[in-house]
Amino acid sequence: MLKQTVAFSKESSNLFFHILTKCNLSCTHCYINKEQHGANTLDIETIKNWLALFSKKAAQTNVIFLGGEPTLHSDLSLAVKEANRLGYKSITIDTNGYLFHNILDKITPDDIGFLSFSLDGATRATNDAIRGEGSYDMVLKGIHKALAKNFSCSMIYTVSDRNIHELELMPNLIRDLGIQRFFIQVIGIRGESSKARGKRQVSKKIWLDTIPRTAEKIAAQGIIVTYPKVFLTMDEPFQCAGNVADNYFVFPNGRVYQCPICEDFALHSHEIRKNRLIATPKINEKDLFGLTIPEGCVMNKMIQPQNLSYTSEGVPEYKIACCMLKEEISI
Ligand code: SF4
Ligand code: SF4
Repeated sequence: MLKQTVAFSKESSNLFFHILTKCNLSCTHCYINKEQHGANTLDIETIKNWLALFSKKAAQTNVIFLGGEPTLHSDLSLAVKEANRLGYKSITIDTNGYLFHNILDKITPDDIGFLSFSLDGATRATNDAIRGEGSYDMVLKGIHKALAKNFSCSMIYTVSDRNIHELELMPNLIRDLGIQRFFIQVIGIRGESSKARGKRQVSKKIWLDTIPRTAEKIAAQGIIVTYPKVFLTMDEPFQCAGNVADNYFVFPNGRVYQCPICEDFALHSHEIRKNRLIATPKINEKDLFGLTIPEGCVMNKMIQPQNLSYTSEGVPEYKIACCMLKEEISI
């Protein structure tokens, strides 16, 4: 089994492009915050212009189309074709499985790398309590439809205290479905989750007892599994992706972030105005990336301090890794 920490690199860039924030679901952990991200839907000409803004390094850049629900955009297929025309390295569509506007009839498996489906429970009851009534059946139906048309499918499972107990059921479900890549995410404390009592993230012990073991089980079936590293020992090196990688999270109101944890605040480092990418004045997320603290991620310490633990002398017992740092397991 091959297990590796995926190092940050300027050679590989990701463009997370939220082309709208509208969605047919209202997941309890939805990270979209319309006050910060806007409620508009970008028209196709604007999408094309904004894709061009990031296309200098297109051959090294993965584009991920997101929303809201991106298939609610009637011109998503044209956006995919434009990203291909500009030579982007790979294209993924993240979807809740409803696959609106007959998207599977408008693109081909050659147009995209993956359709990435979100499922947050191995059972209907657990998933639907988080993502909404009927969403479990719809995502499974969407996966079957996509696989029947030869699209490559991946799955995202956002772990919280409401569904971690069902992660051990996922290896069988994934094998039966025919999923090729599996992504485990940690629930972010932003958007709707920031309003929840108890914050819903699992403890370090539960995370470390469950995630690597389950990831290995799934990987043993020939599926590539990716999950966030989250915890670093005090001896392990810490890096902030904001300093060493090119990741851009673009929202339809023109805000461009480099750190997803900053998205609930007006801390974006860039803004798109009149189809031009402009650096924002201080203070923004970039000023935080440069700070060095023994606890690792500065943003984590500010908004998720409950993840930290100290000795009686006040020394941190471990560091929190950048949320973009991933472990990847495959056979
Ligand atoms: S998490 Fe995704 S699918 Fe769920 S409400 Fe938010 S945008 Fe929609
Ligand atoms: S999550 Fe923390 S370490 Fe990663 S980019 Fe944001 S501020 Fe930097």
